[in-house]
Amino acid sequence: MRQRQARILATIGPASSSKEMLKKLIEAGADGFRLNFSHGDHKIHKKTYQTIRGLENDLGRSIAILQDLQGPKIRLGEMAEPVTLEQGNTFILDSNEEAGHAERAHLPHPEILELLNEGHHIYINDGLVKLRVTEKLDCGSVKCTVLTTGVISSRKGVNLPDVDLPVRAMTEKDRKDLKFGLSLGVDWVAVSFVQKAEDVLEVKQIVDGQAGVMAKIEKPNAVNRIDDIIAVSDAIMVARGDLGVEVPLEEVPSIQKRLIRKCRERGKPVVVATQMLESMIKNASPTRAEVSDVANATYEGADTLMLSAETASGDHPVQAVETMDSIIQRVERSSAWRPLVDARGVNVQPVVQDAICNAAFEVANSLDTAAIVTFTESGTTSVRMSRQRPEAPILALTPYETVARRMALTWGLNTMVTRSPENDTQMSKAAARAVHEAGLAHRGSFAVLVAGVPFGITGTTNMVYVVPVDEESK
Ligand code: PEP
Repeated sequence: MRQRQARILATIGPASSSKEMLKKLIEAGADGFRLNFSHGDHKIHKKTYQTIRGLENDLGRSIAILQDLQGPKIRLGEMAEPVTLEQGNTFILDSNEEAGHAERAHLPHPEILELLNEGHHIYINDGLVKLRVTEKLDCGSVKCTVLTTGVISSRKGVNLPDVDLPVRAMTEKDRKDLKFGLSLGVDWVAVSFVQKAEDVLEVKQIVDGQAGVMAKIEKPNAVNRIDDIIAVSDAIMVARGDLGVEVPLEEVPSIQKRLIRKCRERGKPVVVATQMLESMIKNASPTRAEVSDVANATYEGADTLMLSAETASGDHPVQAVETMDSIIQRVERSSAWRPLVDARGVNVQPVVQDAICNAAFEVANSLDTAAIVTFTESGTTSVRMSRQRPEAPILALTPYETVARRMALTWGLNTMVTRSPENDTQMSKAAARAVHEAGLAHRGSFAVLVAGVPFGITGTTNMVYVVPVDEESK
């Protein structure tokens, strides 16, 4: 069992794809790995995938693997050479395929040029260069004024925060990557540049239950439609990298807080991502501000905190995971943490599953509870139990390895793969065994069980059951 409730997701790249390094990252605290399909080819991802699965066996721990699809990233056309755009100058974006220069560049998306109007903002190169449209010209081009001086070059990313982009959630590359990821058996698929619920639904239709679908929130229009997006997603990622380009940076912390609160309310796991320990790409220790950032995301109740370049290409991947692990542990031991978690309580929805999880939460609080043990076929009951943020550890028992892996990114779920019980005697024995194995049983303690009868059928959660798990009853 991890000695913390919040989980850690580490991005894999050249610095971390060897078997030795992946093993060290798991031992340091990584609960899941992100395969970033904006980089690397299928051969590399397959090798990493297989290495992680091999380690899972060796270490006896279920690890979540997230496939992060590149999504419809808009890019500038070719430039003859890098040029500096000076504040106050005029610059034109057009459909002319010729290489760009200091006065104009090609935007190879005529349908997007069509949508741009006076006053719209265009950000190039991660927002380093900011333009505002001053005039719509004939032949679909736009004249802009440069708001911030900076360098642009071929194929740099373009962000258009003010328009609903007429692009599908998945490019042809994403479709091929997704098919490949599903054939490997990834546990989660992250959808980039989600703008609306339909973008998530389009991916869900292809995934068809083979993996969880996580919506990356990195556009203002996704933030504005967050309720609809959360409703159809299995999890959410606060993708602060692109989000911080598209909305003013000072808005990002409030959006993060709001998204975490909403996700907990709706029982959907939420990942906070990007630049959490950025300086550790080069340095062996983080800045004070980064430590505060990781601590705050933990206080806010995020399910999972993500490392990006720190583990993918940084010089200190293991130290980055260790650092994140120790900050989270320290926060969760602090006197301020539990009152904050409790203060955010959740409304119990008028459905059987929530009523049962709430009852288990109350029972666990009334007794000397060694653990809450959830028997789960699809993972849903365990995730609803996690949403209550109980003080007692949660042991999530499932007969399916795939479900255990998917649950590895949810706050406080310690997953174990066991056969479904066929009657209440088997259920009590399995729960007691799990509590003893986890080293949680102590004199006079109880396990609070959440299960569904008939056993082994998904969606039947209807029972809270209490069994003694005294250390002597082993
Ligand atoms: C982000 O933008 O914060 C993010 C997680 O996405 P990516 O790393 O793919 O840019």
